[in-house]
Amino acid sequence: MLDDAQGFAADAIALRHELHRWPELGLQTPHTRDAVLAALEGLPLDLTLHRTTSGVAALLTGDRPGPTVLLRGDMDALSLQESTGEDCASRIDGVMHACGHDGHTAMLVGAARMLAERKGELAGRVLFMFQPGEETGHAGALHMLDEGLLDLPPHAADGSPSAVEHAYAIHLTPNAPTGVVISRAGPLLASSDSLTIVVTGRGGHASQPHAALDPIPVACEIVQALQTMVTRSIDVFDPGIVTIGRIAAGTTNNVIPETAVIEGTMRAISARTRQRLQDGARRVAEGIASAHGASVEVIMGDGDGVTVNDAAACETVLSVAAAVVGADMTVRLATPTMGAEDFSYIVDRVPGAMLFLGCTPHDRDYTKAASNHSNTVVHDDAALPIGIAMHTSLALHHLSR
Ligand SMILES: [Zn+2]
Ligand SMILES: [Zn+2]
Repeated sequence: MLDDAQGFAADAIALRHELHRWPELGLQTPHTRDAVLAALEGLPLDLTLHRTTSGVAALLTGDRPGPTVLLRGDMDALSLQESTGEDCASRIDGVMHACGHDGHTAMLVGAARMLAERKGELAGRVLFMFQPGEETGHAGALHMLDEGLLDLPPHAADGSPSAVEHAYAIHLTPNAPTGVVISRAGPLLASSDSLTIVVTGRGGHASQPHAALDPIPVACEIVQALQTMVTRSIDVFDPGIVTIGRIAAGTTNNVIPETAVIEGTMRAISARTRQRLQDGARRVAEGIASAHGASVEVIMGDGDGVTVNDAAACETVLSVAAAVVGADMTVRLATPTMGAEDFSYIVDRVPGAMLFLGCTPHDRDYTKAASNHSNTVVHDDAALPIGIAMHTSLALHHLSR
């Protein structure tokens, strides 16, 4: 499988480099979509161009009937300035493919080409999901679902329903050597909810605090109390995180401002803890503000849910990986990681699994490699044919009869 996938490597690498040079943000990634469509040109695919986003759903119909397997690749980049010095470094100021989504897209195109050549072997269909807007709460996957991603026509061969029964996604990670496949059953990635707390007091002269209502100490107390709330009310075996990443107030040293703003993120790996964090953050912020006579507004953004890998789908990933990259390169992860993914929306509806694919060259120390979302992160091109082989093998696992 890996040898066959090498035949698609050069084109996949060229596509990744092109996408890396011209990264796009959010739900509208027209250049990326056009590059994908050009790379899929001539393949026997039924293409659906989504209207609300730049998403593309490409359906490959095998010669015989059977279930449908969904394979996902995300297409969007991040708002940060690249400083890798790579030849293919971003040509767009302040935008960078720092999460490997350029590689995900290139791998999915490679898998579409490889599976199209094996159309005759397929009993069922493959739905290639090219989605924008994975990062920063855009919920591109949800938009594609809302637009009918999973509402497929019957199989052309016999009119059978051929529902989407399995779903897989690959995420590149520089925190493992190239070719290492990592996954786990159950929660793999956390839910992610944004948190904004606006504390409003009353502005005044710094020398006359009694005549004002200083929101700054109130905000500081809320930040501290949130950490106490987490350690005292969240089960350590069902963990949660509240990180305040930004606190802003005031203009100068001798003015008491009217407001202070706190911004953070809340992570959990169960619906129960997610709810407890949301309830707790609101209670703590409102209670402390009230204790000091300040008013408070708590705004919680409903972000990605927990990405829960189906147990059987995860076993499929690990056994397919053992065949493709070898058992010594296949890792069963002991614990979830607290990052988040909008693939959660897909595995909420279809049993499926996400796997991480290592992409730090073997001659470098992966424990010291810059991680995803870093301005210096680099993804090894040698991982691309491995990802193509994994996508293809996962589809064939379900569709070879
Ligand atoms: Zn990311
Ligand atoms: Zn990502």
